[in-house]
Amino acid sequence: MIHASGYVDGELEIDAARRVYDHAHMCPKCRQMLDLLRRTISSLRGLRGSGRASVVPDVLDALRSGDGQRETDNPL
Ligand SMILES: [Zn+2]
Repeated sequence: MIHASGYVDGELEIDAARRVYDHAHMCPKCRQMLDLLRRTISSLRGLRGSGRASVVPDVLDALRSGDGQRETDNPL
């Protein structure tokens, strides 16, 4: 695990998202979950209208409350 204390929040989130996407390349379960997440987010953004430039924070929120914890703390 790399700790990059100099990073601003946005860069940390982008780095985390990259790791998630790398993992999803090898993990069909997470790839499916990310695909569903993307569709959910785009429909949410459609409902809200414009205003968000990035889906990264939404993706990370969903991962923190979902697959990430399941894999580390309580693998099925
Ligand atoms: Zn996975």
